[in-house]
Amino acid sequence: MESPFKVALQLCNDASLGRYLVATRPLSPGEIILKEPPLVRGPFLHTVPVCLHCGKILDNTSSRPCSKCGWPLCGGEACENSPTHQPECVLTTAKGSQINIKNFGIPHPNYQFVTILRALHLKQTSPETWRKLMQLQAYPISMNIAPPNFICNFFKLKDWSEGEVMKICGILTVNGHELPLTHPPQLVVYDRASYLEHNCRANCTKTFTDEGEILLIASEEIQEGDHLSICYTDPFWGVENRRQHLFQTKEFWCICDRCDDPSEFGTHLNSIKCPNRPCDGLLLPKSFLQEVSAWNCDKCDGIFSNNNISLLLGKIGQELAKMPKEDPKVCKQFLKKHEKVLGPHHFYMVDVKMALSHMLASQNFEDLSEGDLKLLLQITGELRMVAEKIAPAERRFLGLILYRFAKASIEMARRGENLEEFYSTLTKSKETLMEARDLLKNEPSLLQEGRMHLQIGLEMKLIDDLLTKNK
Ligand SMILES: [Zn+2]
Ligand SMILES: [Zn+2]
Ligand SMILES: [Zn+2]
Ligand SMILES: [Zn+2]
Repeated sequence: MESPFKVALQLCNDASLGRYLVATRPLSPGEIILKEPPLVRGPFLHTVPVCLHCGKILDNTSSRPCSKCGWPLCGGEACENSPTHQPECVLTTAKGSQINIKNFGIPHPNYQFVTILRALHLKQTSPETWRKLMQLQAYPISMNIAPPNFICNFFKLKDWSEGEVMKICGILTVNGHELPLTHPPQLVVYDRASYLEHNCRANCTKTFTDEGEILLIASEEIQEGDHLSICYTDPFWGVENRRQHLFQTKEFWCICDRCDDPSEFGTHLNSIKCPNRPCDGLLLPKSFLQEVSAWNCDKCDGIFSNNNISLLLGKIGQELAKMPKEDPKVCKQFLKKHEKVLGPHHFYMVDVKMALSHMLASQNFEDLSEGDLKLLLQITGELRMVAEKIAPAERRFLGLILYRFAKASIEMARRGENLEEFYSTLTKSKETLMEARDLLKNEPSLLQEGRMHLQIGLEMKLIDDLLTKNK
C-alpha cells in the first residue's frame, strides 16, 4: 500500500531547504501514519545516575559498576553485555580509564556524555543510521554542556571531528523526544518523525510502543496535501506562554492559525471578563502576534491597557504557582475567587479544573458528594469541549476525560433511582466509553493510559451484562 505521507522540501527564510511531512492521501482519525524505531536512545543530558542498561534510577546499594568501563548498571554480567550499553562501554574502555560515579540521587555531569557517545558510535557500527542522523537539523542552541573539544579530549576520540561532535549535540537538542516508558524518561531521536512540523493545534498525535518505537496517529480528518504536525509545547497554555516557550526551546515565533486567533477557536483560553458593570463581555487584544497594547471588550466599547492586565495576570499566575493543587478545597476556592475576573476557560481556570478533575476522579465515585459529582461532570464536560477545539491531538487526555465523564454520569444516574433513566444513561455512557477506548487504543501497556484501555474494555463488558439483563 502507498505510504500515507511523504517527506517534502520547502525554502526557509534563511534560504536553506527545510523538510516537512505531507499526507499523500486522505487520512481518518485514529489511523496510524508512521511507526519507526529510534535512531538513538539514551539518558537525558542532565540526569541523576541511572542504569545504562534498563534506565532505572540507581543508588549506592543498587549500583554495580561495569567491570570494563565503570559506568553504573543495576545488574551483573547480563547488564554489562547488553547491546544497549555497548557504545559507551566500548568508547570508555578505549580511552584507558574507567568512569567513577559515587554520588547518587543528584544530577551527575558525566551523564551528559552517554547519549552523545551512543550517537557517535553509530558512525562505526551502523553507517546507514549515522547517515540518517547526520541529515537532521542541528542549529546552534545554548545547551549547557561541555564543549566538543572537551568531549573529544576526555574520551580520546580520534575518528570524529569536533564539528561532528558539535553537530550531534545540536541534533540531540533540536530533535530529541521524551520517551516516557521509564522513570526518568529517556531521550530519543527518530528519523522521519523529526521532520514533523509544529502546530499549536496539531493534526497528529505521537505515542510510543513498549519497544520505544514512535507511532504517529491522525487525530482528525486529514486531506491529501495537508502538512502533518505535532505540538512541541503544552497545548493547554495560553498563546503568549506557548510562543515564548517555543522561542526559547526551538527558536521560532509561532504564527499558526491558533496563535493568529486571539479567541483560540472560540474557547477564550486567554479572555478576561469585562470589568464594566453590568457588561458580561470578554476582553481580548486584536492580535497576539504583534505587541499587545490594549484589550477590547467584545460587547461594550471598553478598552483596557495591556499593562494593567499583564499585572493582574502575573499576580494570579504567582498565586497559582504557589498553590497546593493536590488539595481539592484549594482548587475550588481558586475557581470561586477568580471566576469574576477570568473567563471560565481561561488557561489558568483550565489548569485548575484539570487538577480538580484529577483529584475528584481519583476517589471512589460512590464516595463523592452530590456536589462533587456534579462538579466533576461539569468540569469534564468543559475540558472535553476545550480539548476538542484547541487540542484534538491530545488523545490520551481526551480519553481520560471521556472516561471520567462516563463514570460520573453512571454514578449520578445510579443515585437518581429512576430505573428507566439509569438504563438510558448506561447506553449513552457505553458510547462515551467506546470513544474513550478508541482514543487510547494505541497506548503502550507500560503506560497508565494503555492499562486504562484494557480497564475500559472490562467495564464495558459489565455494562453490557447489565443492559442484557434488563432486556
Ligand atoms: Zn538495569
Ligand atoms: Zn561497560
Ligand atoms: Zn501557534
Ligand atoms: Zn464590556
